[in-house]
Amino acid sequence: MLSFLATKLYRTVRNLRLKSRGISHCAHCKNCWGVVQGYDIPFAPGRAMFPVCTECFPKLDADQVIAYCNELVDVWFTQGLHGEDSFEIRRDVAESVRQLKRPPVL
Ligand SMILES: [Zn+2]
Repeated sequence: MLSFLATKLYRTVRNLRLKSRGISHCAHCKNCWGVVQGYDIPFAPGRAMFPVCTECFPKLDADQVIAYCNELVDVWFTQGLHGEDSFEIRRDVAESVRQLKRPPVL
């Protein structure tokens, strides 16, 4: 119990420090990168996005992860960071998430 509280306190303090420096966070649990690690979702050769962390990814279903991916794509296009077709990126990301969420073939 004590170690749970210590971990929670440590994360809260670290999150505040990272947020004040403008560090982004997991779209689901809101913990900053540096407190949690992003789960890489590849969508093109050599390119990946990480809307959620490695702790949240296994807990979410494919549709929930895809919704967070699309929110991130919206931010990219709002900020003019990508000159490509957002439809293509959304399609490729959704396909990638569904593959990652597919149960392994035994
Ligand atoms: Zn998370």
